[in-house]
Formats: sequence, structure tokens, C-alpha cells
Amino acid sequence: MALFPDVLTDRYRRFKHRIFVPNADQYEELATYGQNPEIMLISCCDSRVDPETIFNAMPGELFVVRNVANLVPPYETGGKFHGVSAAIEFAVLNLRIKHLVVMGHSGCGGVKAALDQGAAIQTEAHFISRWMSMLDEARLSVLASHQMKTQQERLDSLEKECVKTSIKNLRTFPFVSEREEKGKLNLHGAHFDIKSGTLSVLSHSRGEFFAL
Ligand SMILES: [Zn+2]
Repeated sequence: MALFPDVLTDRYRRFKHRIFVPNADQYEELATYGQNPEIMLISCCDSRVDPETIFNAMPGELFVVRNVANLVPPYETGGKFHGVSAAIEFAVLNLRIKHLVVMGHSGCGGVKAALDQGAAIQTEAHFISRWMSMLDEARLSVLASHQMKTQQERLDSLEKECVKTSIKNLRTFPFVSEREEKGKLNLHGAHFDIKSGTLSVLSHSRGEFFAL
């Protein structure tokens, strides 16, 4: 059996010493009383866009789901295993979160694979190409409206359309739309630019992203 990576052992010890020990009371409280986060965040697996880092969050503050290209599938109860849907259900119905944020990011490999469908086929990535097919409609829309634009501009646009697609799909969950209508749950879209560190948020009324 391979040894546990040294880098993780070292980083864990650093965390224990620098983060855990000084915050031991907070950890004990969380262990005793459980978590009570008010915000759920759905973001990409990409190692460069860690939500806890970007939002300077402490344990217990953010309920996070990460997957390829921060996608939420539409509501459906068929099939077998629904990891994202189960997490949303738990966060909304059990934790009663008040805000649900979908955060996309620049240079998203999943979105790039969706835009350049050939890339997914070349790597025989059956799971990714099927997962990214959730963006088929958005992809066609971006290709049609960005005929004279560069590939980079198309990618940027599709990353943002991806966030909107996830929000649209979130509203197909009956318990999400019901709570949103009652004002108990707020849905938000965001996009993080890795190079500049800029976070842009979605204005639902204008359908555009604005830098904070
Ligand atoms: Zn990504």
C-alpha cells in the first residue's frame, strides 16, 4: 500500500497547529451542536477555486458541493444515484439554508470540453461528455450569438451561461422553487476570475454579471 503523501501529512500538521488548536473551542461547539450554515455553495472541482479560501470561511459556515463545472442537474427521481440532488435536498430541507450560490470560474476545463466537444471525445471521457451535455442548449445559444467572437470570449460567455443553467435547473426542484417564492431561499450566481481575483455576481433582473 502506498504511503500517505508526505505533503498531506505536513499540511495536516500545519493545520492542526495553526488553525485547529487556536480555534479548538469553535470546533468543539460545532462537534457538540452540529452545523448550522446559512449558505450553500456549488462550485467546480478545479483546485484553483476553493470556496472556503475565496470567501475566507471558517468551519461550519459554508455547505459546499463541488463537481465538474459547478453543474446542477434538472430535478428527476429516476436513475440510481444523485449526489448533487441529495446535497441540495439536505441543505434546503434539513439545514434550511437561506442562500444558495452557484459559482463558476475562468478557464473551466469542463466548460471548455463542452464548448469544444471534440476534446471530450478524444480523451474517451464518457462521464465528462455526458455530464457536460447538460450545457448543450447553452452551448448552441453561445455559438449562435458569438459567431464573430474569439474562442476565449465564447468560453467566458459559456462559463456564465453554465451558472445560469444551474440556477434554472435548481428551480426545477419543487422544494427550491417553493422556498424561493416564499422568500425563504435566495438563489445567486457568481463567477471567479482566477488571474485577477475578481468575483462577479449575477443580476437576475439584467441577466448579466457585475464585478464586486
Ligand atoms: Zn471548472
